[in-house]
Amino acid sequence: MSLDVKNIKKRFPIFKENPNLVYLDTTASALKPQTVIDSIVNYYTNYGVNIHRGVYNLSYEATLLYENSRETVAKFINADYEEVIFTKGTTNSLNMVAQSFLHKLGKDDEIITSNLEHHSSFLPWLNVSKKTGAKLIFVNLDKNGDIDLNHLKEITNRNTKIVALTHVSNVMGRIQPVKEIVKIAKSVDAITVIDSAQAVAHFPIDVKDLNVDFLAFSAHKMMGPSGVGVLYINKKLHDELEPFEYGGEMANYVNKDSAEFRTSPIKYEAGTPIIAGVIALKESINLLVEIGFKNIKNHINDLNKYALKELKQIKGVTVYNNSDTGIITFNIDGVHPHDVATIFDDKNICLRAGEHCAQLTMKWLGEVATLRASFYIYNSKEDVDKFIKTVKETVSFFQKVQLIIWVLKIYIDKL
Ligand code: PMP
Repeated sequence: MSLDVKNIKKRFPIFKENPNLVYLDTTASALKPQTVIDSIVNYYTNYGVNIHRGVYNLSYEATLLYENSRETVAKFINADYEEVIFTKGTTNSLNMVAQSFLHKLGKDDEIITSNLEHHSSFLPWLNVSKKTGAKLIFVNLDKNGDIDLNHLKEITNRNTKIVALTHVSNVMGRIQPVKEIVKIAKSVDAITVIDSAQAVAHFPIDVKDLNVDFLAFSAHKMMGPSGVGVLYINKKLHDELEPFEYGGEMANYVNKDSAEFRTSPIKYEAGTPIIAGVIALKESINLLVEIGFKNIKNHINDLNKYALKELKQIKGVTVYNNSDTGIITFNIDGVHPHDVATIFDDKNICLRAGEHCAQLTMKWLGEVATLRASFYIYNSKEDVDKFIKTVKETVSFFQKVQLIIWVLKIYIDKL
């Protein structure tokens, strides 16, 4: 494996408290390094004041920290400073974007979506569709669960106003061709909205190269704090796009019957922001940059390949995907995923079970629920071994249970 996991684990205090923890649920939320925690404590210990509006030094310094985080995010995704908006998370970002189209779309308009979408990337547009009459059009997926670009070309037309798709699905874990998707959308001047929640911790995102209009992600998926997100808004839209919320800090002039607003990013950040969280996000980006995406990718791919090879040899296990980002979606035949995850929990292994807020993807897979294991920089080959061993034990346990039930049935029938 490419990364020195033993040393990496030392940077995550949870492993000091719980040294045998096998955390296989980074797709839901990544663990937090000490630097992120320290940064939050530092803000509350040494500042604790509001930003932008204070004329005293403490407020000025806290503002610098906050805005410095914006600069770090901008550099990280190759955006301009004023294109980075801080929000509460991907869900919040995508809802804000969708709601801004409530008064712009009508019944002749079309919104392109897919079965790959997390509910955060689908439900806001379902709501827009219900309220405006705009039609939701589903682009086909190929057998691997990737966007079918030929079908996307076929369904894109002059009525297509929005193309809202995921960068990486939290069930399938495969990287979607966003650059090509945007090219197709731009051929009819449609607005592109990309959900990069599962992309941002795995590979570099270059918004200029992708040429997207909106792109959203959450800090907690990249080892940062929960409750903080980023919405990238292409500056070409800034003049036309109205504020999402109205309130403190975002206005220049306010009269009884009119107001003039500040420019982006403050135009889109009404009220007191998530100051500590935004400041701490910088530390998670610093860690990602320090480790390097190439090393992260190699490490995760090694773990994924090894786990898949072992898992596919176990009879009674169905694997649904072949991920680029260390996500294995699977089931143990005949056993509800929640029962399996409970057994794993007993062994201090965190595994995800359920529909992953992606019921359309579940339906596309033909399942109600699945298990999901996801790997990140703090997972080792030993973690995979423990995972595989527990899968084998679980399969064998439920085979015995099924055998006992079968024997009991025969016995009861004969009574
Ligand atoms: N999109 C995808 C692909 C996700 O995996 C998630 C989180 N599971 C979200 C959106 C929503 O992110 P958040 O809960 O941080 O708003």
